[in-house]
Amino acid sequence: MTDSLDNYPLSRRGAKMRASEIRELLKLLDRPGMISFAGGIPDPALFNLQAYREAYAEVLAENGNALQYSTSEGYPPLRRWIAEYMRSRGVECTEDHILITHGSQQGLDLIGKLFVDPESELVTLAPTYLGALQSFSAYEPDYRAVRFHNGVAETNVTAAKLLYLVPDFANPTGETLTVAERKAAIDLARRTGAVIVEDAAYTELRFEGERVPLIAALDIEESGSIDESRTLFCGTFSKTLAPGLRVGWICGPTALLQKLTLIKQASDLHTATVNQQVTYRVAAACFDKAVEEARKVYKVRRDAMLRALDAYAPAGVEWTKPSGGLFIWVTLPSQLDGAKLLEKAVERNFAFVPGGAFYPDGSGNNHLRLSFSLLPEETIEKGIRSLCELIAEELA
Ligand code: PMP
Repeated sequence: MTDSLDNYPLSRRGAKMRASEIRELLKLLDRPGMISFAGGIPDPALFNLQAYREAYAEVLAENGNALQYSTSEGYPPLRRWIAEYMRSRGVECTEDHILITHGSQQGLDLIGKLFVDPESELVTLAPTYLGALQSFSAYEPDYRAVRFHNGVAETNVTAAKLLYLVPDFANPTGETLTVAERKAAIDLARRTGAVIVEDAAYTELRFEGERVPLIAALDIEESGSIDESRTLFCGTFSKTLAPGLRVGWICGPTALLQKLTLIKQASDLHTATVNQQVTYRVAAACFDKAVEEARKVYKVRRDAMLRALDAYAPAGVEWTKPSGGLFIWVTLPSQLDGAKLLEKAVERNFAFVPGGAFYPDGSGNNHLRLSFSLLPEETIEKGIRSLCELIAEELA
């Protein structure tokens, strides 16, 4: 069969973009009775609908401004609120260090566009967030791996453009970098000339223990000020308030933010004015309460998933024990293949994401990503039991 795109003059990057086979399988997840550990999305029961209804009504009652074009940098009261939040997390900054983006996903894309040429070296952990790989891959980087071990960054990279990290409760592993590892990351960035992209999508979802200082905060401490630092922090309201409004931000040195603002302007002029105004009102009214609720709900589900894995997992299966976020990462004996396991799982009405998707080089097939965000405890228990039965059968 000829590819129906053969007739069209696609760019090299356009031609390279393909939906994965896994995506096709995951379309079956809407089937009734399906227990899905696949999606890493927030529980909609946590969205504060009343606060959003009121905020939309208020901004639309005021005048037409909420429906008007606005500046590319973003809505000033929201930028001020975020700057105050960043300061409360140890990042000395002002609203001039904040650019509002269309979700943190757009932040990753803008950063890719600013730094990455074909074959630029881009350092990541393997595995890492699939969406970041998709964003950056459009700019055709050369992916290089780093591993953190006992506070040391292990890599043979000597020069790089970007070092991309999800330091807290990472997607997909749920793991968190220690202070020593964060300092080693800053050191590596200095040595290689790289800018650090600190993707903080899950940072607020901590269930227990002390916060680990942000890389952005440690970098500023070492370099003296944000304008001398080399970290671009990508924040988002998606996992704390709601993802559908698509409001996130980049916090970093003004010189870089000015460039990123120009790139954003060329891309979409600005993030939806009404959604920024509403997000500002909802964040100012109930950010802390929303975070507290989300932590409580997800902690119970994390506990249920860990209990079920402890109870049912066959010998030879290992998993992470995250202190927050939405994910547990399972390592199977090396002869098992996550993608093949998913085909059988879907027949039995449960699903997960096979680990291979999260590796820039397509390795890592004996891993699975499980999300506990959407399901009640009993369903988590039932699904994990089915998963463990299937694994045991495959190992027999
Ligand atoms: N970073 C990570 C690690 C994510 O998991 C996600 C979404 N799942 C994002 C960024 C993008 O989130 P958003 O664009 O909604 O802020």
